[in-house]
This record gives sequence, structure tokens and C-alpha cells, in this order.
Amino acid sequence: MPTTDIAIREGVPLAPLTTLGVGGNARFFVAARSVAEVEQAVAFVRTRGLDLFVLGGGSNLVVSDAGFPGLVLQIAIDEIHGIDGTDEIEESGHQAPIGFHVGAGVNWDEFVAVSVARGCGGVECLSGIPGSVGGTPVQNVGAYGQEVSETIASVLAYDLAEHRVRELTKSECAFGYRSSIFNSTQHGRYIVLRVTYELHLGVEPALRYADLQKHFAGSERKPTLAEVREAVLKIRAVKGMLLSPGDPDSRSAGSFFKNPVISSEEFDRLSRKAAERRLKVPSYPALSQKNKISAAWLVENSGFHKGYAKGTVGISSKHALAIVNRGGATAADVIALRNEIQAGVERTWGVELESEPVFVGF
Ligand SMILES: Cc1cc2nc3c(=O)[nH]c(=O)nc-3n(C[C@H](O)[C@H](O)[C@H](O)COP(=O)(O)OP(=O)(O)OC[C@H]3O[C@@H](n4cnc5c(N)ncnc54)[C@H](O)[C@@H]3O)c2cc1C
Repeated sequence: MPTTDIAIREGVPLAPLTTLGVGGNARFFVAARSVAEVEQAVAFVRTRGLDLFVLGGGSNLVVSDAGFPGLVLQIAIDEIHGIDGTDEIEESGHQAPIGFHVGAGVNWDEFVAVSVARGCGGVECLSGIPGSVGGTPVQNVGAYGQEVSETIASVLAYDLAEHRVRELTKSECAFGYRSSIFNSTQHGRYIVLRVTYELHLGVEPALRYADLQKHFAGSERKPTLAEVREAVLKIRAVKGMLLSPGDPDSRSAGSFFKNPVISSEEFDRLSRKAAERRLKVPSYPALSQKNKISAAWLVENSGFHKGYAKGTVGISSKHALAIVNRGGATAADVIALRNEIQAGVERTWGVELESEPVFVGF
């Protein structure tokens, strides 16, 4: 075993480290506060031949009731550095972007608050999303018309295949809708250590989403970044999408299902089926030839209403896509409800819903 000064603990309960609050123990657990500590943790799993799971804020996870039999490594690198604070306007009239190097362990919303306070736009619509900065590139976090892929310049990561720290460019990350190399082609290969975001001073906030536009309708002037952040936080709270200890609807892993992206032919078929029931499929164009359709609409029109309860689990009373732990739920309870919803949507609409959270220890 390598000499190590990191404090590796055994038998650590994982449920309290997740927002959904289900699942068993980690056989081994350690929180790493620096790149050197990450490297020590990697050496520990190598020497013992253990599996590794990298934990951020635990807001997108379902941990199995059996727990995780290897080492759970929580990334706790928590520094934020501005690259240079460049304020000059370039000859083109555009302001040079301001770069922020943000440690993977920084709480995401704390970083959003810092950037908005500095007058930098680009992530204001992503206010209130739980979890860590290191988790954001993994599924290309997005909300209210913004995605982190618009502002991520590069990702510093430990490469478990080549045993070295590497800087990945934005194009190497291959971001898509709720996807990147980190959760697809290179799943399990990289430990995100730091993310560099490029934000812009003095830009107008993004008001691309109907709920946000409605919020500011009638206002005589353009809202500030801070006002948009406040509006997003309010809208999220109404939907139970803001973590709040007093709100049982927020004991979830966020949206449990991705919005399906389907072909135009499939969309036409679905629209005809909906018309037979005097319904209209809400959609918005995604990729050129495809349509992204609302998973929430599919769920609600397959017999699963907001507030649907099944013993210890249920659907949030504020958001049709959030499966909530109503108290004392097990991972098996969550999976059973997930399966029931998927089967109902498939039966009613012939559409397969894909889960969004990451399943650990299954
Ligand atoms: C109430 C609520 C609302 C939400 N709203 C949204 C939303 O609007 N939009 C959205 O996109 N998501 C949303 N989510 C989901 C979740 O917040 C995001 O996916 C978040 O980015 C997960 O980050 P995390 O640090 O909690 O990651 P975890 O849940 O800890 O991990 C998720 C995955 O990322 C990996 N990972 C985490 N950190 C690292 C790292 N440093 N290096 C390598 N891999 C890592 C893990 O291994 C795992 O595979 C919501 C969740 C909740 C509970």
C-alpha cells in the first residue's frame, strides 16, 4: 500500500451525501482537497485493485441499496481564480472574455453568485442548480436556455488512462444535450479537477426561456444580471428545483428523465396520436433534423400527475419529472417508480424515456 496522508474512511453512508437521500455505504471514502490528494486516492485504488467513483455534490445520483464496494472520491478542490480580469474592449468592439479557473469542488451556485456580482454574464440562467463545478461539464448542465458548454473554455482533469493531468479543450469535451465525453465515450476516464469558464462583462442577460420572458414582461428596462438570477431562483423554488431543507419536493435528483430528441417522422407520428386525444405535443427545435419533446408532457399524459405518490416515493407536487423520496425510501423503491413511469410512457406514446441521473453501485 502506498504511503498516504489522506484520511480514507471505511463504511461511510452515502445517502446523506446525495440530494435524493437513498442508498448504502461506500466501502472506502475520501474527500480530496488538492490535485496531490486526488493522485494519492488514485494510487490507493490502483494498489488495492478497487473500483473508483468520483462524487461531486451528489445531486444527480441514485446510489444502490448495497452501496459502493470500492472507493468513493469526493472532489473538494474549492478555489476560484480569475485569469486576468481583462476589461479592455478589443478593436472589434467586443469585450475580451474574463476567465475564471474554478476548482471542481466549488459549489456551482456560489460560483454563479460570484460571477453575477462581478457583472459577468454567461451563467446567470444556471442559478440555483445544485452540485459542484466539477459536475457541470459531465452532463453539460443546462436550464432556462443556457448550457455550461456555451462558457466552458477548458477542463483540467486527471486522466486515469494515461496517469497524468491534462487540459481538455472545449471541443475535446464534445458537449451535446446533457452529454459530454465524461458521461459517454470516455465515461470513467477523467477526474475533473478544475473548469475554466469564459464570461463576458457588461453583456445583456439571456432571456431565451418563456418563463423568464414572462417574468419580465411589462418591465420598461432590460433586467440586470442580478435581477435575472433572482428571477431564476424564484422560478426554480416554485418548481421545487431549488434545494431547500423545508421543501419535501426538493428531496430529488432533479429531473429524472431527459427530454427525448426524436426524428421528424417520429414527431409526426406522435402528433397524430396526440391529435386523436385532442392534445398537442409541445416541442422546440433541437438538432437540425430532430425535435426535442417535453418529457414532462409525456409523463403527465401517461397517467402520472404531479404529486403522484407510491408509499415512500412519488412525483414532486411541483414538477412532473422529479421523483422524490417522501421519507424512508430505498433505491429499489425509486427504481420501481422509474420503471413504472417508463413503461407507462412507452405504452401510451411509444417513446422510450431515458433516465438522467447516474446510477451508482448497481
Ligand atoms: C433540485 C435539483 C435541480 C436540478 N436542476 C438541474 C437543472 O436545471 N439542469 C441540470 O442540468 N441539472 C440539474 N440537476 C442535476 C444536477 O444538479 C446536475 O447534474 C449537477 O451538475 C450534478 O453535479 P454534482 O456535483 O452534484 O454531481 P454528482 O451528482 O455528485 O455526480 C454526477 C456525475 O458526475 C460525476 N462527477 C461529479 N463530479 C465529478 C468530477 N469532479 N470529476 C469527474 N466526474 C464527476 C459523477 O461521477 C457522476 O457520474 C438538478 C438536481 C436537483 C437535485
